[in-house]
Parts: sequence; C-alpha cells; structure tokens
Amino acid sequence: IGLKGCRRVRGAQIRHLLDAKACFLFDCDGVIWHGEQAVPGAPRVVHALLRRGKGVFFVTNNCTRPRETYVRKFRRLGFTGVRREHIFSSSYCAALYLRDVAQVRGGGVFVVGCEGMREELREAGVPYLQEEADVPGATIYDCALSAGVKAVLVGHDDQFTFLKLAKASCYLRDPDCLFLATDSDPWHPLKDGRILPGSGCLTAALEVATGRKATVIGKPSRFMFECISSQFTGVDPAQCLMVGDRLETDMLFGSNCGLDTMLTLTGVSQLEDAEEYSRSEQSTKQCFVPDYVVDTIADFLPAFEE
Ligand code: PLP
Ligand code: CA
Repeated sequence: IGLKGCRRVRGAQIRHLLDAKACFLFDCDGVIWHGEQAVPGAPRVVHALLRRGKGVFFVTNNCTRPRETYVRKFRRLGFTGVRREHIFSSSYCAALYLRDVAQVRGGGVFVVGCEGMREELREAGVPYLQEEADVPGATIYDCALSAGVKAVLVGHDDQFTFLKLAKASCYLRDPDCLFLATDSDPWHPLKDGRILPGSGCLTAALEVATGRKATVIGKPSRFMFECISSQFTGVDPAQCLMVGDRLETDMLFGSNCGLDTMLTLTGVSQLEDAEEYSRSEQSTKQCFVPDYVVDTIADFLPAFEE
C-alpha cells in the first residue's frame, strides 16, 4: 500500500518543484545549518534560488537573536544575498504581534526570555519592564509587582528562576494580561547527544501555574506566515514550499498555512517518524506528514544545472 505523502524526490521531480514554486520557506537549524556549521551545499542552494528570482524566507523558532545577528551569521557561514527582510524569527514576529495585533502601548510587557527578544521589542517600539536582578533568596513578597502589565511573553531563558515564574503567574491573574510564547518547542539537539530544553518547557510551567493557554507565535502557528504575506505581495500559499526538519513544528506549520511541505533528513525527525504518522488512523496526525522527503537540501543542486 502506498503511504500518503512522504514522497521521496530527486532529479527531475525536484526540478519540477523548482519550476512550480515561487517561494521557498526554510527552517534554519537542522535544514540550512547545525549551530555554527552550514549544511554542506546549503549556501549554494539559497544563492541559486535567489538568482532565479524565487522568494526565499527563513522561518526560525529560535528567539535568542535579533535579525541583524542572523544576517551576520548567514554571511559568516557563506550565504550571500540574505537580507534582514527575509528573516522571520519568533522573537521578531512576537514583537510584531505585540505592536500590531495586541497594540501594546503603555504598561509594558513582562519578558521571561533572553536579550534577543528584548532587542526585537525595542526595535518595534514595544515597551517592556526593565527589571533589576533579583536579590538571591528573594521571594514573591520581596518584589514590587508593576501595575498595568499588558502581556507576559515567554521564550528561551537561560536565567529562568522560580521567582520569574512566580511573578509571571501573578501578572497572568489579570485576564486582560495577554499570555504569549515565542514558540512551544520541547527541546533542541546539541552535540554529543546532549539536548537544550526549549521554550515550550517554560511555557508549560506557566500554563500549569495559571490554568491558561499561551498564544504561540512561532511555528506551527500561522502567524509567521501572516507576517510574510503582509510584508510581501503576491505570496500565494499554493506556490510556496515549506522545508523543515521537525514534523511536529515545520510540517504542521506548512499544513496549517496551506503550503506544500518537504522534510529534510539532516535534523530532528527521521523518515520512520514520518511514515509512522502517515500510517496513523488519526486524522490529526496527517498534518505532520510531509508531502516530499529529501536527504538534504543539497539534493536541490543538480536541478539548477541545465
Ligand atoms: N530555539 C532555540 C533556543 C534553539 O537553539 C533552536 C535551535 O537551535 C530553535 C529554537 C529551533 O530553531 P529552528 O526553528 O530554526 O529549527
Ligand atoms: Ca529546525
């Protein structure tokens, strides 16, 4: 029995996709780089797509860096022609959401997160609480809580403390205080079999403490795609391909936005995981199934040679 989706593509089929699609959305970690190393061939793929006049967008759940830092990273890793306008990170999109959708003016945002998030908020002109470092051993009774906090934004925070969790929980007692998360990623692979817990863990802690559900900005939510299509005219979902390495975020994101999806096997998810979802009887699992599968995006390269 043929499985739905999961179509292994190469050669002529990839060439056909290149002709058929006008825009390519790439996840970053696990697709175009691994930490500080470019996936071999990825710079040439991106360059060739740009030269052909294709729309190329990067959609990353990594909230730790402002876009300017990504521009430098692309350059450092050998990518040419990638501009800041092409980069849609969860921290940038969270700042856009707070500015344009929630329209936070006074009052400010309580950030459980990192400098990259604050920098995007500053750039978007979204006010956030400037906190002094908590005194060791301080409890929630030792803190002055600010009045009129409009939102709590949770993301990657390697300075996470129980006290921050407690403060955020108190702010979220106010039903008018928005609860946002940059992403809900559970963990990320590091070298030597180690992992980095994702923002999803911190969001989950706060969800339990408050009995509320966070609004997620990053993949698999559609908001990042809405940011792209509001800034670039003529981005038609039917003409976009979403390329990612994680089924539960990237493929679901593509599916939520009505895009064709492609899994590369250079990251988190394996072909077996995709096939298992494909065989599942549960219809909700079908959204994790990629339309296409390649070993690496370097498989695009032969299709550029005429
Ligand atoms: N968030 C953090 C803190 C990360 O370190 C990573 C990957 O390294 C991600 C998110 C996932 O990024 P992407 O969506 O580009 O795979
Ligand atoms: Ca990834």
